[in-house]
Amino acid sequence: MSRVKIMRKHIVAGNWKMNNGLVQTTTLISELKQQVKTSDAEVMIAPSFTNLWHAFEATRQDDIEVVAQNMHFAENGAYTGEVSAGMLKSLGIKTVILGHSERRAYFNETDEALAKKIDTALANGMRVIFCFGEELSDRKAGKHEEVVKGQLVNALCHLKAEDFEHIVLAYEPVWAIGTGETATPEQAQDMHAFIRNLFRERYDANVADNLSILYGGSVKPNNAKEIFSKPDVDGGLIGGASLKAEDFYAIVNAF
Ligand code: PEP
Repeated sequence: MSRVKIMRKHIVAGNWKMNNGLVQTTTLISELKQQVKTSDAEVMIAPSFTNLWHAFEATRQDDIEVVAQNMHFAENGAYTGEVSAGMLKSLGIKTVILGHSERRAYFNETDEALAKKIDTALANGMRVIFCFGEELSDRKAGKHEEVVKGQLVNALCHLKAEDFEHIVLAYEPVWAIGTGETATPEQAQDMHAFIRNLFRERYDANVADNLSILYGGSVKPNNAKEIFSKPDVDGGLIGGASLKAEDFYAIVNAF
């Protein structure tokens, strides 16, 4: 399989979470196809595992990449209910979201487990959208940078510089996910600049400048433009608003 090389680009990815059965998936994809893209953003959707193949087939001719919401770190074996990188690849899926805060909170995903998942994804030639972000209590205590740094260093900083061609970062403050409360554009920019700087220090300017860093947390058609106008914000990971074709494309076209 050929690897997708990441040079910094605009990306808008819709995380459908545990929503949409087969009928709703078919309907939403056909509605998405009726939307017109006027921006240069790469468009991705992440349906549930059960609808990946259908979504992949339904978007084969379109400018929409179908990505997975999660995968296991093992190549195969006795892990009932889990899905491997090889299984995703066998469908043609090339990108996987890892480390979403809901996975961390409800399924006890640790930085250490995520580091293993990232290694497995890369070893299988996949690219990773790696999610991380602080809790409200961290921000209130002024520890948001420290927490984010810890998540990034623990999960990613064992990688080689060239591995980052296959990594997209998604900063998602937990307090802004699904709450309707968005980080201000300035808060997003400050954190994204902090993250880019961290990779400049740990690696080099090439790694830092080529990283696509997405913001996630209650991005909607009415706030996307302002958030995306910030220099270190390269796109968005969109939950609720990705379930409505018109809203999702309004966000895609906010670039
Ligand atoms: C998400 O779940 O990644 C997310 C950003 O959700 P929402 O847009 O609904 O806040």
